[in-house]
Amino acid sequence: MKNVFLPLIALVLCFGCTSNVSDNKIKEELVEYALLTPTDFRQRISEAPIAYLPLGTLEWHGEHLPLGSDGLQSFEFMKLLAREAGGIVLPMLFLGPDSVRVIDGETYYGMDHFLNQEGRREYYPEQQLDGSCYWVPDELFKSMLENTISQLARAGFKIIVAHGHGPSTQTVLKYWDEWEQKYEVMIFTAWAWNVRGESDEQASNRAREGIGIMTDHAATNETSLMMYFYPELIRMDLLPEDTASWPVGVWGVDPRLHASSELGKEAVDYHLHRMKGVLQGALESLD
Ligand SMILES: [Zn+2]
Repeated sequence: MKNVFLPLIALVLCFGCTSNVSDNKIKEELVEYALLTPTDFRQRISEAPIAYLPLGTLEWHGEHLPLGSDGLQSFEFMKLLAREAGGIVLPMLFLGPDSVRVIDGETYYGMDHFLNQEGRREYYPEQQLDGSCYWVPDELFKSMLENTISQLARAGFKIIVAHGHGPSTQTVLKYWDEWEQKYEVMIFTAWAWNVRGESDEQASNRAREGIGIMTDHAATNETSLMMYFYPELIRMDLLPEDTASWPVGVWGVDPRLHASSELGKEAVDYHLHRMKGVLQGALESLD
């Protein structure tokens, strides 16, 4: 009995699920590249030739946040920004680079060893953190990014916003002058202090207070952004209750004391407004 009815029930549930997803999507302005027809694409790119590239990885973000937190934050922020400033959001680029160290014959990536300096508040011995994955070497990532930018330029984009996982975003910063000249595009990240013409001390102070877009690691800023975008996925109850005990793989201001959905919303609103201004200036400079 069970075997006969299960596929039917699954089909009904699945169908209901799919139709809800599409209904919800249609209510919102479509900004995701993969969902556009060529007609939609021509319309949007003629209004604002801006491409948004959300950079992620699969990486330990404390016990309390999902492993895909980087890509999820940048993707959600970019969808809101595209609805404000125009443009098209690419699918998440989950593969990403990170620092690598070989210690006693074992290889450690990124947060596995990032904070293993004794004496730091966040100290922990290097260890393979559960769930971290999707690392690629710097040269391969550079090549993936450069090919993406070259193809975006060919498709007609003039402005590219690439942001997300820290080491991925750093790669953008490292090569943006070279790629801007080579592909005749303007490239931006969403870090306030890296937007040319906007490197003011106030912006970086606000970022340290949690009012940034991905300015720490699973601490107050990222936790607040995730609480705002995906409240149902956040498990603060899985962090040590005693705040004298620092959670493994968390870097920044203690999220147990300071993170909130309200702070996440404040950061998003602040940077939507700021980035919209930056992108409007860039669009005007094209004329
Ligand atoms: Zn992160």
